[in-house]
Order: sequence, then C-alpha cells, then structure tokens
Amino acid sequence: MAKDEIRQFVVGQLSTNCYALISEGECLVVDPGADGARIGEALRDVNVVGIVATHGHHDHVGGVRALKAATGAPFAISVGDAERAQHALELSSHVFDVRSGGLEDAPAPDRLLSEGDVVRVGSVELRVVETPGHTEGGIVLLGDEYAFVGDTLFAGSCGRTDLVGGDPQVMMQTLARLKRVIAPHVVLLCGHGPVTTMEQELATNPWLQ
Ligand SMILES: [Zn+2]
Repeated sequence: MAKDEIRQFVVGQLSTNCYALISEGECLVVDPGADGARIGEALRDVNVVGIVATHGHHDHVGGVRALKAATGAPFAISVGDAERAQHALELSSHVFDVRSGGLEDAPAPDRLLSEGDVVRVGSVELRVVETPGHTEGGIVLLGDEYAFVGDTLFAGSCGRTDLVGGDPQVMMQTLARLKRVIAPHVVLLCGHGPVTTMEQELATNPWLQ
C-alpha cells in the first residue's frame, strides 16, 4: 500500500497551516485559510475529494470558496461553526485585517460534521472529535497516525479563548478530553506553528499538565 503523503501550505497574514492529506491518489484539504486558487493549482496531480475546516475562523476558511471552485470538492465543517464560517470576515473584522489577501467567507457546507462522524480519504479514516473552547464548533480530525488539531492545540500552547466563540473553561475540558483520546504516538498537525506529537505535548505543554 502506498504511503500517505501530507503537503503543507502556509497561508495568509496569520501564517495558517493548510494541510493536504493524500492517500491512494485521493486528497483531503484541511483549513485552506487563504490562497485557495494557489492550493488548487498545487494539487492538480491528485484527486481532491474533500475540503474540511477545523473551525470557522476567517484564517481557516478564507480560501475554501476559491479551492472549491478550482477542484469541485465538497466542503465540510461542524454543525457548530457552519454559520460562523459563512460570516467569518465580518466576525473577525474588529480584530484582524480581513479585507486584504483575497479572503472570502466560506460557502454553505455540503456536509455537516458531528462527534463520531468519519471522514475518508483513500485508505485513511479520520474521526471527528468535537473540541469546543477556541470556537463553539471546533473539531479535531483524528486518525491512527495523525490528528488535525486546528487551533485547539499547538506545540507548547493551546488556542486563544478571547476571540468570539471562545470559552476558557470549555477549553480546559476539551484539553483534558484530548489527553484521553489522542494516543502518544499520534502526530499533531496544528493550525499554526510547528508539527508536534502528543507524546511531546503530554511531556512539555503546560496546558496538558
Ligand atoms: Zn482560530
């Protein structure tokens, strides 16, 4: 069986990590926060079968519309953040410059994701884990080898809870749950900053102690 491949694109003013997971010629794009057309161009050699946002902030969905236009792939987001994503620019405009960089609000989703749903790409199955705290509808996509953790967990820190939709108490509950459901060997693909592992974070991340 061919090995899975992950391509990373760093996009937008907030240096969001967009990931393309490729398995058996199929590709799932996670968090195209900007540069949707460029990402689509870079993935012309694979069959993009889906686009998923870990949450509805503008820097994670700002490129969905252009990527969907370029690939025709369906867009999925959680029930809890679907509405936010369609007004992402306005909701972030008081904190961030959202009028440059060609950002667009997300389109209406083709699929709504909830706890326990499975997203398939090639031979990979990713399970939806609801992770409120950074936003109400944040999710982690958890596979056997890697987890797309969005802005819930970063190398050495966790997502901020002071933006619209954030809740510090709920975030602490989510982080406690992630300690139980993500195995130590799992590679964490974070929404910003470096890739890490659960083992590394369990040992060093102050938010997981
Ligand atoms: Zn965010």
